[in-house]
Amino acid sequence: MPIKIPQAKKKTEKKASGGRKIPFQSPKGMHDRLPADFLYFDKIEKAIKKVSLFYGFDRLETPLLEDIKLFERGTGLTSEIVQKQMFTVKTKGDGVLALRPEMTPGVVRAYIENGLQYVSNPGKFFYCGPVFRYEQPQHGRFRQFYQVGFEVLNSDDAAYDAQIIIASLKIFEELKLKNVVVKLNTIGCKNCRAAYVKKLKEYYKNKTGDLCRDCAKRYTENPLRLLDCKQEKCQPLKAQAPQTLDFLCAACKAHFKSVLEYLDGGQIPYLIDATLVRGLDYYSRSVFEFFAEGVDFAIGGGGRYDYLSETLGGPKMPAVGSACGVERMIEAMKLQDVHISSKSAYKAFLIYMGDQAKKQGMLLLDEFYKAGIPVKESFAKESLKSQLRLADKEKVDYALILGQREVFEEVILLRDMKSGTQEAIPLKKIVAELKKRI
Ligand code: AMP
Repeated sequence: MPIKIPQAKKKTEKKASGGRKIPFQSPKGMHDRLPADFLYFDKIEKAIKKVSLFYGFDRLETPLLEDIKLFERGTGLTSEIVQKQMFTVKTKGDGVLALRPEMTPGVVRAYIENGLQYVSNPGKFFYCGPVFRYEQPQHGRFRQFYQVGFEVLNSDDAAYDAQIIIASLKIFEELKLKNVVVKLNTIGCKNCRAAYVKKLKEYYKNKTGDLCRDCAKRYTENPLRLLDCKQEKCQPLKAQAPQTLDFLCAACKAHFKSVLEYLDGGQIPYLIDATLVRGLDYYSRSVFEFFAEGVDFAIGGGGRYDYLSETLGGPKMPAVGSACGVERMIEAMKLQDVHISSKSAYKAFLIYMGDQAKKQGMLLLDEFYKAGIPVKESFAKESLKSQLRLADKEKVDYALILGQREVFEEVILLRDMKSGTQEAIPLKKIVAELKKRI
């Protein structure tokens, strides 16, 4: 049976203890991560760590705030993220910082700034953390959300495009997500893209009146993004638009062919989607997205970004990466009824009666800590009944019961929670005894 994760109450119902409301709520589109949510979050973090260890990605963490220009130049002035979605902070001088709306420009900056190209080349990194976008919150779309992702810096080898896709798929596999589809396309390099964009503009030239407001703007600012539009109105034109695949130069054609061959080599199924272009300005060549069965939004995406470093004023440094949305993966797990084990991390529950026992309990917990055995307590409760009820709720195998009499006799009652049987164990031996039984 899949366990039911309690959903956070609606904001209007949120009450502080004692039934009184407090006049504060988490900011719009931003959510508290509650203990029950960590059943999922921990699993995802464990998955990316396991996959990264195997494929040789090291963890890299950048600050939450970066110079706004990093994203203006990197993510791109014509991207929706930069145009509409950045949370900004004014510094005391003239500077403006932005809460990172995505990770990649920060990772590239950190790689160059810290001279990591002399340590790991190609640089293979993974990250895991929150990003911020001033979006209109809706289902699966938040203002603060978490991403896990991989980057391979300083290599144009198509094998890494395939490896990034495979590593991302491994995360979904670790999470037991079923029927994940990879959609894949190539948008070419600087050279061949120019000819394609020219053709695309010619195609749309006399049709701008039939486009949505955003696309009318895209036609002049970033025509490639015309293919990215999800509005109903723009779909018929999009379906007939020229395709990047027909305009690739020989080098891009060969690169894309290699990516497909490496995926075939790894027996990875994929779908080529000629309309896939992705929302960020810096992509070149391979672009891809991941979709899970039953979920109507992408759970991850990525692509090659061969010019990003140069755009930021750095060296020539081809690279490829992917980012997966943590909340969206969780949503997919819930929709697909993925079973999450709710087994307690605690092996036993310490129950005390009386002040002497409570004091003795402090020392006992320290001994269990040293032995590496997690033991739960509830010092705020006094009655045996309520403490036993909590031990039951925690689903521990054993309760350790310490009353005034036991303290006096230097023993503790070891109660088997399943059978209800209990025996007195000398206090000095309880750690070793519990260790033996768990
Ligand atoms: P992007 O950085 O836009 O390529 O997005 C990578 C992944 O992050 C997407 O495939 C989604 O899974 C997730 N994502 C993007 N935007 C949001 C959002 N506003 N709320 C939740 N998840 C998001």
